[in-house]
Amino acid sequence: MSELTENAFMEKIVSLCKRRGFIFQSSEIYGGINGFWDFGPLGAELRKNIRDCWWNDMVRSRDDVVGLESAIIMHPKVWEASGHVAGFNDPMVDCKVSKQRFRADQLFFAAVIVDGKAAGYVSALESEKTAEELQEKAETFKRKKALAGKLEPVQARDFTQAKPDEIPLIPSPATGEAGSLTAPRAFNMMLQTWVGALRDESSIAYLRPETAQGMFVDFKAVVDTGRVKIPFGVAQIGKSFRNEITPRNFIFRSREFEQMEMEYFISDEDDWAKWHRYWIDWCRNWLVSVGIPAAKLSEYNHPREKLSHYSKGTTDIMFQFPFGAQELWGIAARGNYDLSQHAKFSGVAMEYFDDAARRRFVPHVVEPAVGVDRIMLAILCSAYAEDEAPDEKGKMESRVVLRFAPRIAPVKAAIFPLLKNKPELVAKAKEVRDLLRPHLNVFYDEAGAIGRRYRRQDEIGTPFGVTVDFDTLGEKGDELRDTVTVRDRDTMKQERMKISKLLEFLLSKIH
Ligand code: ATP
Repeated sequence: MSELTENAFMEKIVSLCKRRGFIFQSSEIYGGINGFWDFGPLGAELRKNIRDCWWNDMVRSRDDVVGLESAIIMHPKVWEASGHVAGFNDPMVDCKVSKQRFRADQLFFAAVIVDGKAAGYVSALESEKTAEELQEKAETFKRKKALAGKLEPVQARDFTQAKPDEIPLIPSPATGEAGSLTAPRAFNMMLQTWVGALRDESSIAYLRPETAQGMFVDFKAVVDTGRVKIPFGVAQIGKSFRNEITPRNFIFRSREFEQMEMEYFISDEDDWAKWHRYWIDWCRNWLVSVGIPAAKLSEYNHPREKLSHYSKGTTDIMFQFPFGAQELWGIAARGNYDLSQHAKFSGVAMEYFDDAARRRFVPHVVEPAVGVDRIMLAILCSAYAEDEAPDEKGKMESRVVLRFAPRIAPVKAAIFPLLKNKPELVAKAKEVRDLLRPHLNVFYDEAGAIGRRYRRQDEIGTPFGVTVDFDTLGEKGDELRDTVTVRDRDTMKQERMKISKLLEFLLSKIH
């Protein structure tokens, strides 16, 4: 893929997702709505597999984690206690001419300094190449203004650092002209609605911006009913909503998205750093288990001075997206802040009683929080490949292939009768489909030449292609009767096996 530019690579992913029914723009027939996405038949399957793998590994295979499904709309006090009403803000800048909005911390600018004197300003939106872009713009600026002298290397700053007298001089990234940008102001990202018949202050409610608060608010209910013992976790998968100022990078940043979060409650006397490290490693290994190459993952530790006052440490697992290394999974050690806040605001003690030590305390928490959408995008970017495969006559042709890990692939096996106009082949192939269908998501396809059918499955990442041919019917004798060929998507090698062995073989490869 190295020959592809980052943009061209993203375009290929976006167009494949649309063409093959993974991801559609929401409400497209009405022109779409920014920051919302729909998931087509294959996208829905892929997401279900992501959720199921996470739930199985995080909840069902462990003794110390239980599940929860809390409501999307909660009592508005929850969001006061959590700090979201007062502090869930992003700094926003408006361009008065283009009417576009930007996040101030994603809008960069620099002074153009020639012979030690500021001659003007340039600006650019955050990308992998912000610094280079600003430098190029500064050179163009100098050339256009015919300024003689030495241009100093530009020093990029984000717009939250702009001084009041600089703001009118900084060009808008939308128009390229200065004078239209407003000073940054705080913008609360919670989506608001009204519950009940009255529309006034008292009926305001919020669509949750994270699933985590459900686990804190229901902490006592889980402890009282769940027979859990510290250390233990409560996990949830569900939709969250944020009125992001600039949704972008396909499904990377949307306004409606789905989170998979787990709150791991530990003793106040336990070593939080040990658990923090444990969960970072767990998350990295899990990502690798769903087909994300370890080499594309890195860790970013939030600097102490940027952490919220209660946070002990936050590490993001970053994925090398085509548009740069970005946060995929955040693992935060949150102390006992959330439970203490809810105790304060609700008047209900959020404590745990340790039977053995005869001691009551407010547990501390380590939280791994990730989005289904970001994992889906990381999986798609990791799986996409172009290579060559032989056609019917053995001539090499280029193919697009999604190399999904079998456990995550939307379709596990495709079943083909060699020819569709031979009723015996069709009947046998449908028999094979019916044999596998209760156990695996399989797809039956009889349309077109077999090579084309393989190619269609390669493009949606189906790991195995099962073909029923004349040998299956016993044309070459009993030895090959009731055998099929199984083609491996990646090696393109075919092996013959008994239909009676097929299910066991596929299950062994998939789980
Ligand atoms: P960012 O800095 O990218 O806005 P964040 O630090 O606010 O993210 P968290 O509040 O830690 O994100 O959310 C946990 C996880 O939820 C993120 O790691 C990401 O996978 C996912 N997530 C957060 N916001 C969005 C969004 N707008 N669209 C898609 N996924 C998101």
